[in-house]
Amino acid sequence: MLTIWDNTDGNPTNRLERVKMQDDDSIEIEKLRTEIRQITSEIIRLCASRSEVAKKIGRFKQERGLIIQTPEVERDLRRAVLGEASKRGLDELFCLRLLNLLVGDSTKVQKRESGEDHSSPLQTFAIAKQMEERGDKVIHLEVGEPDLPPPRVVVEEISTAIDSGLTRYTETRGAPKVLDAIRGYIRRRHKVSVAEDQVIVTPGGRFAIYGAIVSLIKPGDEVIIVEPAWPAYRDCVEIAGGKISPVVTSVDDGWALRATDILNSISKATRMIIINQPSNPTGKIPSEKIMRELAKVAKEENIMILSDEVYHHYSYKPFTSILESTECPYIHIDSFSKSYSMTGYRIGYAVSDKDTIRKISSLQSIAITSVPEFVQYAAIKALDQDSFVRNNFEEMERRRAVTCEELRHLPLTFVEPDGGFYVFPRIDKEIDTERLLMRILEEKKVSLTPGRAFGPFENYFRLAFCQPEEVLREAIKRIGSLL
Ligand code: PLP
Repeated sequence: MLTIWDNTDGNPTNRLERVKMQDDDSIEIEKLRTEIRQITSEIIRLCASRSEVAKKIGRFKQERGLIIQTPEVERDLRRAVLGEASKRGLDELFCLRLLNLLVGDSTKVQKRESGEDHSSPLQTFAIAKQMEERGDKVIHLEVGEPDLPPPRVVVEEISTAIDSGLTRYTETRGAPKVLDAIRGYIRRRHKVSVAEDQVIVTPGGRFAIYGAIVSLIKPGDEVIIVEPAWPAYRDCVEIAGGKISPVVTSVDDGWALRATDILNSISKATRMIIINQPSNPTGKIPSEKIMRELAKVAKEENIMILSDEVYHHYSYKPFTSILESTECPYIHIDSFSKSYSMTGYRIGYAVSDKDTIRKISSLQSIAITSVPEFVQYAAIKALDQDSFVRNNFEEMERRRAVTCEELRHLPLTFVEPDGGFYVFPRIDKEIDTERLLMRILEEKKVSLTPGRAFGPFENYFRLAFCQPEEVLREAIKRIGSLL
C-alpha cells in the first residue's frame, strides 16, 4: 500500500525511506496494472477470435440449412465452463453471466452470417400494406387486432375528456382515479386486492413488458421463455443484454407446459420466467394445477414470473391468473387493446410488488412521462363493459369454431386454441414455408405470419381469426388451393 506523508514524523531518514518505499510501491502497482491491461487486451483478442469462429459456424449452418440455437451444445459448454470455474475457484454466477454474454454475441454473429433474422408479425403486415397501396385487396390474417369497434362509451368519453380539459400530464404511474378503477376491476375479476403502488398504467401491454424486462434484467441474466412465443419477449431480453433459455413446447404434445421442464431450465443466473396465457400464437392456457406448480417453483428459486395475460377475456377454457397464484414474485400484464378493441388507444398496465413498479415507473418517466390523460379517463369507462366483453368473446368463439372446421380439411396439424384469437398449424408437407406464405400473399392476397417469428417453427404459420366468418372461410379456401 502507498504511504501517505505523515506530518507527525519529522525524521529526515524516515522520510527518505518512505519516499523510496513509495517509489517501490508505485513501480510494483504500475507493473500489476500493466499486467491486468495485457490480460484484458488478451481477453478482447480472444473474443475477436471467438467471433470469427462463430461466423464460420454461421456460414456452415447456412450452407447445410441447420438451426442457429442448439440447446444441447449450449448445455455442454455451460457444463465445461462450470467445471473450469470450480477448478479455478471462480464464482459460478460470474462465469455463467460471462458465458451468457459470449453465447449471446455468437448467436447474433451467426444470425447475421446466416441471414436469419426472425420475421415479426408487423413485418408481414408492412408488406401487405404496401400491396394495398398498389391497389390489391388483402385479407389480413397476420395481425392480432380485433376488427370490432371499441365500446361506444369509450369513444364518447374521449371527446368529453378532451372538452373538459383532461389533456395534461398525469402522475407517471397513472392518474389516481384510473389506478383505483383498475384495482376495483382486479378485485371483481380476479378476487384479489392490490395496493395503489402495485399498479402502473402504461402505453399498451407492450411497454409494460418492455419496462419490466429492461428494468429487471441485467447483462448475462437468464430469462426462460416458453416457445412458441410472441417475438417481443426475445427482443426485450436481448436489448437488456440477457440470455434466453427457451422451453420449447410441441404441437404433438398439445403445446403442454410442464413445471419440470421449467425447473430443468433454471440455473443460478435465471432471473425471470415469461409465460403468456392464453398464448400468442398457440392459444394454450396452462391448467390451474400447472400455474400453482410454476408459482411454487418460482417461489422456491426466488425467480420472477412475468405473466402476460392480455388475451384473458378470450378464454374458451378455465383460466387462472398469476394474480390468483401469487405465492411467487410476479408481474401481471394486462391491456385494453384486445379486451376492448382499443389497440390504437395505447393503454395497458402492470401489477407487481411496489419495488418493481417503482423501477418500471422510473423508466416510464424518462421515456414518455405518462399515458395521455384523456385516454386514461376513457379507459375507466371500458372497465365495466361486461356485456361488450361477453359479445366480443362469443363472436371470437364462433370464429374459432369456423376456422378450426375449415382448417381440418387441409394437410395441417394443429391444436384447437384454448383462448386468444390465433391458430398455429404445422404444414405436413416437405415445402419451403416462407416461400409458400409469400405466394399465398402475392397470388391469393391472404396475409399470414411465418412460424419462425415465434421460435424454431419453420414449418408453421400463425393465423389470426380477427375477421368475419365468411371472410375466414374464403381466406382458408384460398390457402388450401396452394397447399
Ligand atoms: N402481449 C401479447 C402476447 C401480444 O400479442 C400483444 C400484442 O399483440 C401485446 C402483449 C401488446 O399489446 P398492446 O401493447 O396493444 O397492449
